[in-house]
Order: sequence, then structure tokens, then C-alpha cells
Amino acid sequence: MMAETYDVIIVGGGPAGITAAIYTRRKLLKTLLISKDIGGQILLTGYLENYPGFVERSGIALADVFERQIKELGTEILVGEVKRVKRVGDRFKVISSEGEFLARVLIVTGGSSYKKLNVPGEEEFFGRGVSTCATCDAPLARNRVVAVVGGGNAALQGVELLAKYASKVYAIHRRERFRADEILVERVRGMPNVEPVLNSEVKEVRGEKKVEGVLIKDVKTGEVKELMAERVFIEVGREIKLDYIKHLVRINKIGQVIVDREQRTSCRGIFAAGDITDLKYGQAIIAAGDGAVAALSAYDYLMEKGR
Ligand SMILES: Cc1cc2nc3c(=O)[nH]c(=O)nc-3n(C[C@H](O)[C@H](O)[C@H](O)COP(=O)(O)OP(=O)(O)OC[C@H]3O[C@@H](n4cnc5c(N)ncnc54)[C@H](O)[C@@H]3O)c2cc1C
Repeated sequence: MMAETYDVIIVGGGPAGITAAIYTRRKLLKTLLISKDIGGQILLTGYLENYPGFVERSGIALADVFERQIKELGTEILVGEVKRVKRVGDRFKVISSEGEFLARVLIVTGGSSYKKLNVPGEEEFFGRGVSTCATCDAPLARNRVVAVVGGGNAALQGVELLAKYASKVYAIHRRERFRADEILVERVRGMPNVEPVLNSEVKEVRGEKKVEGVLIKDVKTGEVKELMAERVFIEVGREIKLDYIKHLVRINKIGQVIVDREQRTSCRGIFAAGDITDLKYGQAIIAAGDGAVAALSAYDYLMEKGR
């Protein structure tokens, strides 16, 4: 049987993919959105306080609005996983867990996920004291003692931000030195309420009903002790899964899809947006904005080609 052809197939149903669908449908492009879920990472966001026009706070509530909006605009939605994309002439064949489809253009918005520590207590308290996004959850640290885990730029930017809210910030890193830019390290070291805890691995997030502290092990001496902290921010990097597309588009050395200002990838006809790309800040509103650009660029591309 011939696979059905769409003007656009969007991979991913987070803020980038949803916004792309709104724009492609308003241009009356036949659009299929394939995603493992509708909402993406915002489904994990208990308090979404920085998305303009949205004051419900919970990410799940925003995901519900997303779904309603793209359905009303006539987007076809398929809940499933894209396994592989192949070039077939001037089309793209999208092989998913739910079947195969053809597209004239592809908008890839597969997002990212934050790496975890995989220690006891982390999962249990996730979203209830354990966070993977200091930028998102810093206000929750107001007047509290908090711990940040990680030694790169994201972690130390998190420390710097949290130090403005928290009464004290432990900056825990498993190596002798932080990996972040020296200028950032110096700034953080100069903050009176920041205490670096180096050569230390977090072994457990502890607490009865809420987070009360972290158990750390000194990697040199083996000594184990508990640090009291009411919030734990895990900033040990992000993971982007690109198996289905990496043979078609250029990727940078940290595994992000390279795009230009029009969200074009290195492959004609493939656009990308959101956390999957080489953007600097992983935020819902930025992903949404880039999704809109990707859709408009995809439309221009189709018009130039004569659709
Ligand atoms: C705990 C937490 C709290 C956050 N809080 C905030 C906040 O307060 N404010 C803020 O602005 N940002 C926040 N963020 C960040 C924000 O959620 C992300 O920057 C944003 O969701 C990125 O959008 P995206 O569409 O690029 O990707 P994602 O939201 O990651 O969505 C990607 C989508 O693609 C799907 N997908 C991936 N691979 C495939 C595949 N092979 N086949 C089919 N589907 C696939 C996924 O299932 C998902 O639906 C938070 C993130 C986390 C984890």
C-alpha cells in the first residue's frame, strides 16, 4: 500500500512542534504531527511561571490547551515513535511505530531530556524538591538552603542564579575543579552564600515527606556525610536522541542539530526547532518561537518549490 503523503510531518509534540503545527495549519498545509506524547518536557513542569499569557501554572494544563488548539486547526496527530527517516527522491519517508508516511518537508522537534544521577530519592522527590532546571525553578529556592549538582556552565549559571534567592547554595561537583568558564567560576566563588563542595559525589537524596538533604561521598577519602538542603538542582547535562535523523543532518560536537536563523538544517527540506537544536537556552517560549520560524520557513520552501 502507498504511504500517505503530507505537506509537512512534524516530529515531536512539545512547545516547538505544537507551535509549528499551529503555523503550518494556518497556511493550510496538510500536517501530520507524530509524537510520543503531547506536551513534551512541560508535562514534567509543576510550576510554569514564565510562559506569557499562561497563568494556570501547571505544565500539564498548558499541554491540554496545546492539544485542543492544534486539533481545532485540523492537525492530524499520531501518538507514536519515529524510528527512522529516509530520503526518497524529493520526499522524506518517515518510519514510525504506527506506520510509514511521506512528507514534502520535515520539521524535527524531538527535544531533549535532562540527565539524571540515578540515585535513591531522586525519582521519588522529582518535581517535589528535586529539579533539573534552575532557570525554571529558582523562585522555589527563596530563603532556603539548596544544593546544585554539576560542574559545567549550566550548573554554575544555576548556582549564580539560585544564590540570589536562596539563603545558601552548596555547589557539588565530583571533580577537583569546576569545568565551567573560569570567569563564571570566579564570580560564583566570590558569592558569600555559595559553598563549593568538590571531589564529591551525590549518593542519595534524603528526606521523609520532603527533601531534607543529600548524602555525599568524598571521592578521594571515601568519607560519607549528609548536607542539609531543602531543594536539589541536578544540572549534569542534557541528552538528545537523534538516531532517526542523524544520518541526514549536521550535528555539532555536543550532539545538537545545527540550524540557521530560519531553522534550516544542513539538509534541504528538513527544518528543526527547540531543544533539539544548537540553541543556547532550553525554554518553552524559545522552543515555541523557533517552532513558528521553522513552520514559516517550511512554507516558504514549499512555495518556492511549487509545493
Ligand atoms: C522539570 C522541567 C521543568 C521545566 N520548567 C520550565 C519552565 O518553568 N519554563 C520554561 O520555559 N521551560 C521549562 N522547562 C524547559 C522546557 O520544558 C523545554 O525547553 C521545552 O519543553 C522544549 O520544547 P521542545 O518542543 O523543543 O522539546 P520537548 O518539550 O522536549 O518535546 C519534544 C517532544 O518530542 C517527542 N519525541 C522525541 N523523540 C521522538 C521520536 N523519535 N518520535 C516521536 N516523538 C518524539 C517527545 O515525546 C516530546 O513530546 C522545563 C523542563 C523540565 C524538564
